[in-house]
Amino acid sequence: MSLRYGRPLVMIPGPSVIPDRVLNAMRRPLPNIYEGEVVNLTYSLLERLPALARTEHRAYIAISNGHGAWEMATTNTLSRGDKVLVLEVGHFATNWAEMAAMSGIKFEVLHAPDRAAIEFDAVLDRLRADVGREFAAVFVAQTDTSTTVRNDIAAVRRALDEADHPALLMADCVASLGCEPFEMDAWGVDVTVAGSQKGLMVPPGLGIVWVGPKAWEAHQRADLRTAYWDWSRRTDPDAHYWIFCGTPPVQHLWGLAEALDMIDEEGLENIWARHDVMARAVHAAVDAWSAPDALELNVPVPSHRSNSVTLVRTGEVPAGQIRHTCEGEAGLTLGLNIQGDPDAAFRIGHMGHLNPPMLLGTIGTIEAVLGSMDAPMGGSGAAAAASVIAQATTPVPKPAPGPEDLWS
Ligand SMILES: *Cc1c(COP(=O)(O)O)cnc(C)c1O
Repeated sequence: MSLRYGRPLVMIPGPSVIPDRVLNAMRRPLPNIYEGEVVNLTYSLLERLPALARTEHRAYIAISNGHGAWEMATTNTLSRGDKVLVLEVGHFATNWAEMAAMSGIKFEVLHAPDRAAIEFDAVLDRLRADVGREFAAVFVAQTDTSTTVRNDIAAVRRALDEADHPALLMADCVASLGCEPFEMDAWGVDVTVAGSQKGLMVPPGLGIVWVGPKAWEAHQRADLRTAYWDWSRRTDPDAHYWIFCGTPPVQHLWGLAEALDMIDEEGLENIWARHDVMARAVHAAVDAWSAPDALELNVPVPSHRSNSVTLVRTGEVPAGQIRHTCEGEAGLTLGLNIQGDPDAAFRIGHMGHLNPPMLLGTIGTIEAVLGSMDAPMGGSGAAAAASVIAQATTPVPKPAPGPEDLWS
C-alpha cells in the first residue's frame, strides 16, 4: 500500500507548477506563422513584458532557458577582454560569468558572508578600489536558487552610484521575477534576465531579457555580438522573422499570453504579497521543526531570504530519504540540494501558481514524513505555517440567503 495516488505535486524551484489555464492555452494546432494572429501576439507580448520588470524599455524573447538568456545578455553588451564583477551568494552569478569567460570575458568574484546576502559596504569598497574602471559590468542574482539567499538589488545600484562607477548592473531574476518586488527602472538595473518556467508559470523554453538605455548604448560597441542573439537584428521593425531569429515558439507564446493575463488579473503587487505570505509560512514551519543536529533554515537573517525558494538544512537527518519518501510514498517532489551533499539539505520551491492547500499540503506532508523517520522535531511546522496563513486570511462573511440554501 502506498499513499501516493492522487494528483502529484512538484514543489521544486523551477520548473514550477503550470496552471491548467496555461496548459490549455498552449494546446492548439499550429497556425500560420507568417502573418495574422501569431505575429500580432508576438508584438503584443513585446509590449506587455516591460511592465513585468517595471521598465519602460524593451524586452527580447529568446527560444532558450535561463542559460541562453545569460548568453544573450552577455554577448550583446560586452567585448572580449572586458572584466565583470560577480557578486556571489551561491552559484548562479558565477555560473553566468563562467559562461561569459568562454567568450573571452574576465571576472572577479566577490563573495557574500556565508548564508547571507551581499553587503553594501563590500561592494562599495571594491568598486571604489577599481580606480582604472576595469569592471564593465556587475553580475548579481536577485534570488540565488542554490542557497536561497535574496540580494538587495537597489543597494547594488546605490553602491555603483556612490562609487561613481560606470559598470552596467546586470541582474539575474530567473528565480524571482513575478515573485519578489523588482523595479528595473527605479533601481537603475541595466539588464534584467529571466526565464519562463519559474515565477512566470510557463513551461521551460523562453529566455527573456530586458534592456535599459545604458545597455543599449553598450550594445553599439559590444564585440561579442553573434548573429543568433543579436538585439539589433531582433529589433528590425519590418522583419518579424528576426524577433526570434527564425521560427517563433508558438505554443509557448500562447502560454505566456495566458500567464500574463493571469498576472494582470491578480495584480503584480498582490502576487508579490502572496509570495511573501507563502514564504513566511515556509520559514515559520522550518523554524518550528528546528532541533539540534536536525532541520534548520539555511538563511538565518529573515530579510536575506528568498520569497520563492527555501533551502532547508537537515543536519543528521538524511535529506535524500526525506525527498524520496515524500515522492515515493506521498506524491510530493521536493528540490534537490545543489550545494554539495544531497543528504545535507533539500529545497522547497514556493513560486508561481501556489495557494494555501498546495503549500500546507507540502508542509504537512514533509512533517508526516519526518515523523515516519522518527526525525527530531522542535514542534509542528504545519501548525506554524497555518498560523501565518491565518493572519493573512480574511474571513468571508456569511452570504445572503441564496440557492445554496436548498442544501440545508
Ligand atoms: C534556474 C536559474 C537559472 C538557470 O535557468 P535555466 O532555465 O535552468 O537555464 C539561472 N539563474 C537562476 C537564479 C536560476 O534560478
